[in-house]
Amino acid sequence: MATLILHPGKEKSVLRRHPWLFSGAVAQLDGRVRPGATVDVVSHEGRPLARAAWNPASQIRARVWSFDAAETIDHAFFKRRIAAAVARRASLPELAGQQGLRLVHAESDGLPGVIADRYGDTVVVQLTTAGADKWRAAIADSLHQATGCARIYERSDVEVRKLEGLEAVTGWLHGEAGGDELVIEEHGVRMTVDYVGGHKTGFYLDQRENRRRAAELARGRRVLNCFCYTAGFSLQALAGGAREVVSIDSSGPALATAQRNLALNPQLDAARAIWREADVFAELRNLRASGENYDLIILDPPKFAHTAAHAERAGRAYKDINLTAMRLLAPGGLLMTYSCSGGVSAELFQKIVAGAALDVGRTARIVQRLQGAADHPVDLAFPEGEYLKGLLLQLD
Ligand code: SAH
Repeated sequence: MATLILHPGKEKSVLRRHPWLFSGAVAQLDGRVRPGATVDVVSHEGRPLARAAWNPASQIRARVWSFDAAETIDHAFFKRRIAAAVARRASLPELAGQQGLRLVHAESDGLPGVIADRYGDTVVVQLTTAGADKWRAAIADSLHQATGCARIYERSDVEVRKLEGLEAVTGWLHGEAGGDELVIEEHGVRMTVDYVGGHKTGFYLDQRENRRRAAELARGRRVLNCFCYTAGFSLQALAGGAREVVSIDSSGPALATAQRNLALNPQLDAARAIWREADVFAELRNLRASGENYDLIILDPPKFAHTAAHAERAGRAYKDINLTAMRLLAPGGLLMTYSCSGGVSAELFQKIVAGAALDVGRTARIVQRLQGAADHPVDLAFPEGEYLKGLLLQLD
């Protein structure tokens, strides 16, 4: 095994149990190993610190598998870590019994580059780093062992793999398709999961609890759901008794799935659902021009900032949609607004939204701070894991 020697002082973040080692921290690699191989991480003085996956192609040169420098990284290691992640979910009442559930949330479950989502009897796995890619077989086997799911599908076709020098990989790792799509039930609403072609692994599991909250708030209200994707929030709002739900997305395929999802739920009043295939930035202005107003508006846009470097441009985009949405809210109306940009902190997001309220000249009060569901935990040693933040606001 090769040894990765850090520059003086660069052991500090590892001692604080942060799993990333950037290029600037690495003094030298003793030995020759392939991308994804496990290396011993040592301080400048040679003190053993951790075992990590090496990748010279990435700015994050190494990602820590274990802070126990003596722990062997082998099939059994993945079996232990994955079994523990699955057990943590099973022990939380709001997660036990969910048909759609994130089982492994990468760094926050001690497995950098490994994402695994369960949809009924199928697990969809996404490997985003060279280290995770190398352990594909052990990860698939461990997921099978820990869940009993016979069907394990890989969706490693995300952009971030390019930063790691990896090609896209998709296909069955265990078992095979019984059909093209999966259907799960979330808070009593049936939802299609397009695990082959949909976003992420097919569904935005991180918003599960927030969709439940939207259902609670929707009764009797006129709801506008912006960036609706396959209508998760929209159908929960209908289930909660919304008077009307207008859903906007720029993606035709997402809206087609959204309408199929509505048809999968005959208990919902389809006449109350209105669909708009449009750009949210423009459509909010059109709605304003035609004198519309709403009692509950949901803004769940895609990631506007991929890194902190894009935070400024992202800030303008967040401000724009929040400002135009606030203009459409009836007095006493509620705004559920989110950012899933890792480069925009919760504090910065709140400042941006506060700026929007100031510009429209309305008082907005925080009713609740919102975050990702409990199957997307945040390891306190890895604050980067806290990507999803939101505010539930009430406007005067
Ligand atoms: N709230 C959804 C997830 C939203 S994902 C859920 O709970 O499942 C973000 C969505 O925004 C995607 O469906 C994407 O198609 C859409 N989108 C991205 N840019 C857009 C734009 N400018 N206007 C409208 N929709 C957009």
